[in-house]
Amino acid sequence: MTPPFSQLTTSLDDIARQGLYRSRRVIASPQGINLEIDGRHIVNFCSNDYLGLANHPDVVNAFKAGADKYGVGSGSAHLICGHSAAHHVLEEELAAFTGRDRALLFSTGYMANIGVISALLGRGDAVFEDRLNHASLLDGGLLSGARFKRYAHADAVDLGANLDKTLGRKLIVTDGVFSMDGDFAPLDELTVAAKKHDAWLMVDDAHGLGVIGEHGGGILEHYGLGQDGVPVLMGTLGKGLGTFGAFVAGSELLIETLIQKARAYIYTTALPAAVAEATRASLKIVIAENWRRDKLRQLSERFRLGAEQLGITLMPSSSAIQPILIGGSQRAVDISNALLAAGFLVSAIRPPTVPQGSARLRVTFSALHEEQHVDRLLDALAEAIAGSK
Ligand code: PMP
Repeated sequence: MTPPFSQLTTSLDDIARQGLYRSRRVIASPQGINLEIDGRHIVNFCSNDYLGLANHPDVVNAFKAGADKYGVGSGSAHLICGHSAAHHVLEEELAAFTGRDRALLFSTGYMANIGVISALLGRGDAVFEDRLNHASLLDGGLLSGARFKRYAHADAVDLGANLDKTLGRKLIVTDGVFSMDGDFAPLDELTVAAKKHDAWLMVDDAHGLGVIGEHGGGILEHYGLGQDGVPVLMGTLGKGLGTFGAFVAGSELLIETLIQKARAYIYTTALPAAVAEATRASLKIVIAENWRRDKLRQLSERFRLGAEQLGITLMPSSSAIQPILIGGSQRAVDISNALLAAGFLVSAIRPPTVPQGSARLRVTFSALHEEQHVDRLLDALAEAIAGSK
């Protein structure tokens, strides 16, 4: 290869040397707790399909009926001719579910985040982001051109000190449930800081929606917060709801602003209407079936208790995301590989997804797991961790 592309080889070699090379596994089965990989049956502990809805028969049937009614492709962006009745009704249902004036669908959560932040802010404004925010929130902040400030993880005091020093329009942005840690943002404190400094607060509840809160209302239900405290709520559909896509919910003014200004909304093809129909079916299950959330809580508690008994140290998390801090990237990969050999899929999460030196195994639970899955995973974990020392 001729320069400058020849440098790519060196760059890939560097990535591999640091134990950071990423590769994909080919899944031959539907999503769920049992996967087929390379002809083997593997128990899945790394999906974000927390409620087990990605392959639920009602959701699959709604998807099929949606494809029969609307076809597969949506034809264009929402603002051209891609906004179907299915999208429209789903937006109304998501607004009702989140208790907000309106909701707006985006084709992915990544696009929602970059779209919203860069629509609301520009040069002369400032964005304040938790150090451990999801990459799409960080990218949105950078793309906006606003002054970009990161505060210490979940630290409203550090945020307050940063806000004190800043003039102009301010947006505070945080994950609701941190995707790689599983802990909750201190939204009670962040709303106070936002109010005191006349800032807006945006919460990305990708990992809380449908999963946290008695009724699945997410991290805002957990804290009892509404549109006043958190004017910008982003939720994804590909995790707790088991389908694909994302939405932003808030005031009429927010949604109209996004329709006019969010480039990641305006300049992209709408999600297939069949996905919207499937999501309407999954939302019904999310609302009706509390047992899924109860089950997740029980599984996480059983895992935490079992880990303690085996001397496995877990990160402080009360969600369905239960990471085990390993430290070195190569060691995390080795343990993940040993688990796969033993029949369990647990992904090794490494920098730059997480800070240097904090590679981890990210264990996630599904409402479809049974207690025996948790117990078997604990035994395999204890063995794999001991074997990697
Ligand atoms: N925000 C968070 C906190 C996430 O974890 C993710 C997905 N990993 C996203 C946004 C992006 O959502 P999507 O996968 O729909 O692009």
